[in-house]
Amino acid sequence: MMFAILILSSAIFITIRSQVTVTSLVEGRLVQIASFPPISTFQASVTLVQDGTNIILIDTPTATDTAAMTQMLNGMQQRNLSPAQVNMVVVTHGHPDHFGQDGSFAAATHYYNNFIYIGASQFTPLTFDSMGSVQLTPNVQLWQTPGHTPQDVSVIVRNVPSRGTVAVVGDLFLHASGVMNPQMWESFAWNIQTGKQNRNKVICAVDYIVPGHGPIFQVTTEMKNMAACSISGNNPISGQMMMYPGSNMALQCFSNANCASFADYANCVRSTRMNHNVCCSTTSCP
Ligand SMILES: [Zn+2]
Repeated sequence: MMFAILILSSAIFITIRSQVTVTSLVEGRLVQIASFPPISTFQASVTLVQDGTNIILIDTPTATDTAAMTQMLNGMQQRNLSPAQVNMVVVTHGHPDHFGQDGSFAAATHYYNNFIYIGASQFTPLTFDSMGSVQLTPNVQLWQTPGHTPQDVSVIVRNVPSRGTVAVVGDLFLHASGVMNPQMWESFAWNIQTGKQNRNKVICAVDYIVPGHGPIFQVTTEMKNMAACSISGNNPISGQMMMYPGSNMALQCFSNANCASFADYANCVRSTRMNHNVCCSTTSCP
């Protein structure tokens, strides 16, 4: 049994170590040009994630923004990618500056809130686990992170070279400047308290954030202190489990020696959710 697991583990290792990249195709921005009434010019972040053979686009520009459309398509072309090769499009939330050009990616599976849309008319429910997360590809998860709207999702990308874990969050964060000074974010929020919990959850779990309307930024120690990440129980996010390929079953282990050969999943810990020991990326897994 142990021998079989170790052989299977080696096969998984190759899959999980596939190259993952996060690329900004359109850098988001938000400029307030008048206070009364409030008028802003804006452009949402458009982000490309490649995880092995999976090509994932997160948000698309406003339908009328041809300049951003050109920038998005040129960025893909520079990477020898065509719109037809994008196999997943994630809409972080239902505001038109984040999904206006989804129609350019008719071949993709489209994710919005807890539904999956395929082709002209097919849709199916998307089931999140008890932690509000679902695994999209080996290194990519979708998290439910409501606050800006009731339907917000964030995309969590792990094992990004030189970045670590990156969250692409839509308008859960508008801009780096709003992390410590959230007044502007709060003025647009559907639910400030729920949003604050999810903002802290993301801050505690990742190294970099791509906000909805600004460039990628590093999560600082000051931000993690503000979110009280070090206080036990305040960080609901524990490590990621290594999964058997193509399943929702976590890799079982009997001691750390079973997991030690996997750099990102080296800890053998008890999972209450799986009801057995699993190879985990930290000393705690749900
Ligand atoms: Zn929005």
